[in-house]
Amino acid sequence: MRVLKFGGTSVANADSIRRVVETVLSGDQKKQVIVVVSAFGGVTDDLLDLARHASEGGAEVKERLKKLEDRHVGVIRSLLNVKKQSDTLTRFKMLMNELEDVLQGVSLTRELTRRTTDFILGFGERFSALIISHCLQNEGVAAEFVDARELIQTDARYGQAKVLLEPTCQRVESFFEKRKGISVVTGFIASTPNGVSTTLGRGGSDYTVSLIGAILKVKQIEIWTDVDGLMTADPSMVKRAFPIREVSYEEAMELSHFGAKVIYPPTIQPALQARIPIVIRNTFHPELPGTVISETSGDREGLIRGLSSISDVSLITLKGSGMIGVSGVSGRMFSTLAREQINIILITQASSEHTVTVGIQPEHATRAKRSLEKEFRLEIQEGMIDEVRVEKDLSIIAAVGDNMRQIPGIAGRVFSALGRNGVNIVAISQGSSERNISFVVSRKDEKKALNTLHDAFFMAGVKTVHLFLVGVGLIGSKLLELFENQIEVLYDKYLLDIRLKGVANSEKMLLCSDEESIGFSSWREQLESEGRKSSLKTFVREMKACNLPNSVFVDCTASQEVSEIYPEVLSSSISVVTPNKIANSSSMEYYDELKSLAARHNAAFRYETNVGAGLPVVATIHELVTTGDSVHRIEGVLSGTLSYIFNSYNGEMPFSEIVRQAREKGFTEPDPREDLNGHDVGRKLLILIREAGYRMEFDDLDIENLVPKGARNAGSVEQFFEVLKEFDGEFSELLNSAADQGKKLCYIARFEGGKASVKLEEIDRDHPFYGLAGSDNIFALYTDHYLETPMVVKGPGAGANVTAGGIVADILRVANTKARSNDE
Ligand code: ADP
Ligand code: ASP
Ligand code: MG
Repeated sequence: MRVLKFGGTSVANADSIRRVVETVLSGDQKKQVIVVVSAFGGVTDDLLDLARHASEGGAEVKERLKKLEDRHVGVIRSLLNVKKQSDTLTRFKMLMNELEDVLQGVSLTRELTRRTTDFILGFGERFSALIISHCLQNEGVAAEFVDARELIQTDARYGQAKVLLEPTCQRVESFFEKRKGISVVTGFIASTPNGVSTTLGRGGSDYTVSLIGAILKVKQIEIWTDVDGLMTADPSMVKRAFPIREVSYEEAMELSHFGAKVIYPPTIQPALQARIPIVIRNTFHPELPGTVISETSGDREGLIRGLSSISDVSLITLKGSGMIGVSGVSGRMFSTLAREQINIILITQASSEHTVTVGIQPEHATRAKRSLEKEFRLEIQEGMIDEVRVEKDLSIIAAVGDNMRQIPGIAGRVFSALGRNGVNIVAISQGSSERNISFVVSRKDEKKALNTLHDAFFMAGVKTVHLFLVGVGLIGSKLLELFENQIEVLYDKYLLDIRLKGVANSEKMLLCSDEESIGFSSWREQLESEGRKSSLKTFVREMKACNLPNSVFVDCTASQEVSEIYPEVLSSSISVVTPNKIANSSSMEYYDELKSLAARHNAAFRYETNVGAGLPVVATIHELVTTGDSVHRIEGVLSGTLSYIFNSYNGEMPFSEIVRQAREKGFTEPDPREDLNGHDVGRKLLILIREAGYRMEFDDLDIENLVPKGARNAGSVEQFFEVLKEFDGEFSELLNSAADQGKKLCYIARFEGGKASVKLEEIDRDHPFYGLAGSDNIFALYTDHYLETPMVVKGPGAGANVTAGGIVADILRVANTKARSNDE
């Protein structure tokens, strides 16, 4: 005997019903087959809407009924041959008329009882079982329509009726004993001993099949749906969820209780008692093995088996110092809620007994609050209980696994992974079964929490990083190009999955909040065609709303406005990576604020490329200091532009000509005065000084401005060059006087004895900077450990390639510190 069930997702239209028929016929044709079916996908919801609409005296009952009819008739017409159609249509029409009559009654009386609702909802399954049984007959096999109301008896708790086991067993056994061929049974519906229609609760067809399978003691119960099995998480929430091969009954029960909709929670009980495995298979991929739910959970590997969540819950808290030591408060709380038929999903109690919190469905929140206030009226009056508090817009997440019982520390790992991603935990409850840790988070964090935990526990070390980039000029676009080339290596070799979720320039911006990402090779076209008008505020707001784990905001602009948004970004636990040095070189107070926000919100703030492009200077100083060294002196040529100018200036060409040439080669800012005034070098030096642990403001720096006073106010850049010519003589004198002593000119940033300066200096052959060539930067660090000979870092300190490379390195560092996974 074969017992199988097809859910609404498997019988949504003619195509999928064709697959159902194939699957049913694929087995041994001699065997007796029981097929339980749900209503066509969405029909139960439509019926519920229709009933409510009718009870409100709505005017569209007929139109809506017609739509429902057309949908079913469409399936009949496309699946059955013409001869068979008329019989099916007649029977279907009879059911439709019955439905229409009831709805008319509801319309007239404007009354919709729970009992009538159950009757109306049952039509979905009656339609589909009728049509599917005829489809099977159409294939030449013996198939009959079976109305489960004849078999399954329940009490009269409409909407969620309880099965009366004894009469049901008797009926099921005797009914199927005499049957041959295929029986197509309506799922979900049943009746009271008096013959009144009931339903087993939404999703209840799973329960119908489990019940029948258990009573008939079949070898296994098959549940066919639209996913590859019971998955590690809801695939609509976690894109990388994958099917679990084997789970225990208990694990499946916990997962479904906490929201894994693929199986209706009461389904497990009958199968468990009869020790019959349930197999969950995909109707659209019958070649896949699916999930077996049985007594053992198969391989004992893996710390947790799956994650699930309930999207919308409310918490009710009873709080008060008078509760301590008073017995029976929780008992009274639970009985009050039970009396109101309010189901408790989760319970937590502070060890001091100061508070008791329960999670319930939001639609019961007001009723729960009112009844508890009534129950505890005296205690509230006497101040023993402060209040009955309701919190809304919350979600419950559950991590489930039998192995939790043996392995300590899982809760710690769950919460530290969430903490690193700024997910705030509202309440925690560890099930007494110990195979479940459930906790409450804000609803907006639900998806993030699930994905964070899924990556941490199931992705064998894969770390996903979500990038939001502002500024796609030379450096920003180079950065994306580097990722484009590296993306596969990063995934295959380093298990890093880098996704571009947002891009903006000053005109346009584009964000992907869903599973989609922006292509590293197609971002330019996507930004052009799908981009909206740019707004930094909106970009940041939407980036926060995406609420993705391991998010990194990359600022590749040189904008003050963008640098001012970092506090908001860091406060949302989003890391910041940037070559923009404005933030770190503004006030010390701001610098401190950024560091403390980053620490407080578990976000990284990385800016290696603020100084010396990709050269490892910032991190080097930082590491020296954190390992206990102390930096006494920093010397450096910190500007590629000025390095080039003075390395090229040997007297053959006038100074103004050298500057002009540097500008033509693209080495300078559009206005070279911005290089020559030394401010940029000053900002870099300031950042290094602060990184070395000293506190200093920009105004404390002594900067020699190389723009001659007379040229500072020249209007255009051309005019500036004209005026600069007049000073060629002065520069030439400086050069000659140095050359006379065998020295060179060098624009050096220096920090020593607590004082910082940026000055044009003469250096002799022995100086470590004497051999500097081209546009290279050089840094000499004198520390406790590098006292005699400094630590020197030298190399190209500017250019899109090296800067973008440095930014990639920073992003990878963030990925490795933020998204630690199983290996911690
Ligand atoms: P059916 O109509 O076949 O009964 P349901 O819609 O009731 O199907 O259940 C299947 C859906 O359950 C899937 O499409 C999926 O979105 C959802 N789901 C939630 N959690 C899980 C999970 N852990 N594994 C598989 N599916 C899940
Ligand atoms: N059709 C019912 C529902 O939508 C039962 C089921 O699908 O299992 O809830
Ligand atoms: Mg279902």
